[in-house]
Amino acid sequence: MQVLEAYGIPVAPYRLAKTEESVVSAAAELGYPVVLKVISERVIHKSDVGGVHVGNRGRTGAPRRLHSDDGAGPPSRRHQPDDVDGMLVQQMARGGRETIIGATWDAAFGPLLMFGLGGIYVEAVGDVVFRLFPVSDVDASEMVNSIRGVRLLRGLRGEPPADTDAIAEVIQRVSQLVGDHPAIRELDINPWLAHDRGGVAVDGRMTIQTEAAV
Ligand code: ADP
Ligand code: MG
Repeated sequence: MQVLEAYGIPVAPYRLAKTEESVVSAAAELGYPVVLKVISERVIHKSDVGGVHVGNRGRTGAPRRLHSDDGAGPPSRRHQPDDVDGMLVQQMARGGRETIIGATWDAAFGPLLMFGLGGIYVEAVGDVVFRLFPVSDVDASEMVNSIRGVRLLRGLRGEPPADTDAIAEVIQRVSQLVGDHPAIRELDINPWLAHDRGGVAVDGRMTIQTEAAV
């Protein structure tokens, strides 16, 4: 998330907390409701293991229980306290359409930029497009407009359209980021919550190549 911020990509404000007290004080600073996310090296998809609690209002006991064992909040029963490095406490973003913006690396072509619909359902939706690095502003807009579900972004049934210029801007910033850092093998902003004005990244993941290829 810090890397994204460094490239001017808006990120939902967050704090890292290692103790129950710091979860509560972070939540108070950010303002309820907050989203609590388990931080663990063993957990890649946090929501798959009950590690994301959206809309915490501070009265359910969840923020007081970093190592919950009664199902009151994350981490769920399936986490052993030893597996949990801490908690990410994040401001809750309201509304917005869940999209994915990212990059992957191809042995023949180098970085490929990616955009699609879906958030947690990205695999099920399967509506993703790729472009070779680097992407210009025109390329980025074309990417946004070439997904099958672009009508969902333009707004159905009186919904305001999502800010596709902001999406295109983030795609370009990701393009610049992976161009500057050739060791990045994969980067996902998933989701980028596309609002009618702007948007916000609420989750990011990056894979770095640590050894030279042989
Ligand atoms: P993971 O992808 O590891 O399961 P995420 O951080 O992406 O975890 O959270 C899963 C889902 O929870 C997101 O796709 C989004 O729908 C919702 N979510 C996460 N963080 C926020 C937030 N700050 N505000 C609103 N919704 C959120
Ligand atoms: Mg995610």
